[in-house]
Amino acid sequence: MYECHGHVAMDGVDFGAAMARHRNGVDKEFVRRNLKSCAEAGISFFRDGGDRCMASAFAGEIAGEYGIDYRTPVFAIHKHGYYGSIVGRSFRSMKDFAALVAEARKLGADFIKIMASGILGFKTDGKIGGPSLTYEEMREAVRIASGEGFCVMAHVNGAENIKNALSAGVKSIEHGFWPDSGVIEYFLQSGAVWVPTVATVRNLLGREGFSCEVLGRILETQGAVLREAYAKGVLIACGSDSGAINVPHGKGTHDERSYLKELGIDTERGDRRISELFRAEGAY
Ligand SMILES: [Zn+2]
Repeated sequence: MYECHGHVAMDGVDFGAAMARHRNGVDKEFVRRNLKSCAEAGISFFRDGGDRCMASAFAGEIAGEYGIDYRTPVFAIHKHGYYGSIVGRSFRSMKDFAALVAEARKLGADFIKIMASGILGFKTDGKIGGPSLTYEEMREAVRIASGEGFCVMAHVNGAENIKNALSAGVKSIEHGFWPDSGVIEYFLQSGAVWVPTVATVRNLLGREGFSCEVLGRILETQGAVLREAYAKGVLIACGSDSGAINVPHGKGTHDERSYLKELGIDTERGDRRISELFRAEGAY
């Protein structure tokens, strides 16, 4: 089974507590436990979404012991003042961005992850919070990353942002909440893979402080476009964002698979495509 978007630095319970574990260096036993949970759940491929504490870099060194083909961006890259500090490092200029790409390479990255938009305000109206990268910024980010042989994974929500990211040449769209049918043509043109991480929203249903009505609208909107996209040939991969709240490693991946199955989506081709592209030199 493939997990195309997870975070070994976290455990699906409490983000703050997980980060505190790595405060004085990676909590290696904790990372090993998470990899073990994945292996026991039948996961043989795991693409990490990055962290800011070198946990995924460590996992890259040892995942083979668990029989896992593991890929990491080491850290995700966000623009200073924008969303993303919880999973990575920031840039102010594109020169900084290039330096971060070089550093990711040195630290053993297999690809580059950018944070192209905010996250959804799950506790309010579910809309996207904060600013997004422009098309020009994304295009330049992709140019720099592919110059180093790296494909780009983009955290992105909102129809316009998704279209910008796909036009800019990113190879996978992470989350992609609040899409419209117009994104489908962009996916088909670019050949990029959609990793919808349905479990991140679905597994919040019933949790205190979250509105079922808001979550339901997010899921319905995304589900309708996913169905149509799949029918038209868009590649969709299984990535649960395991490690995120209520998405434990192993179980989260099984959840994601069954949610996509409910939508009539088989991820085999999308999963395979992710594993082909998201490796060092994958952009060549
Ligand atoms: Zn993530």
